[in-house]
Amino acid sequence: MQFIDSHCHLDFSEFDSSRESLITECVAKGVNQFVVPGITLAQSHTLIELKATYPSIKIAAGLHPYFLDQHKESHIEALFEFATTNKHQLVAIGECGLDRSIENLSKQTYLFEQQIKLSNELSLPLIVHHRQSHDLIAQAFKRCKPKNGGVIHAFSGSIQQA
Ligand SMILES: [Zn+2]
Repeated sequence: MQFIDSHCHLDFSEFDSSRESLITECVAKGVNQFVVPGITLAQSHTLIELKATYPSIKIAAGLHPYFLDQHKESHIEALFEFATTNKHQLVAIGECGLDRSIENLSKQTYLFEQQIKLSNELSLPLIVHHRQSHDLIAQAFKRCKPKNGGVIHAFSGSIQQA
């Protein structure tokens, strides 16, 4: 049996001292691939190196709404460039999405829809973050339909919403 952890922020500094042993332990238990989402432009760049170090790690590139303060206007264009250049290294676009606990929903919506466009352009699936935002995400999907599926991380809506 082979399992893939589809959402795993193994690059976070909390794992600096345990990353190697954690991966070894997971592989021994049958979880032998990990998808590490992108959260900022700078961090997405660093994931290329992480992937080279750990062959079991698959990576995505994205601008996470939780780190909205760090995303400058120019970052979306830079993300398009980065993801297009490194398309063969990526398994998804994201983590992107909408979070009602973070201010500035209009900036979040813009960045989210741009990342849906990017995933469509590159034929990659999406990793979507939500928090009290199923309705807003459904609206964004109507305006800008993702063509390659993906994962809504920690989905907590109803079957109907799904
Ligand atoms: Zn996440």
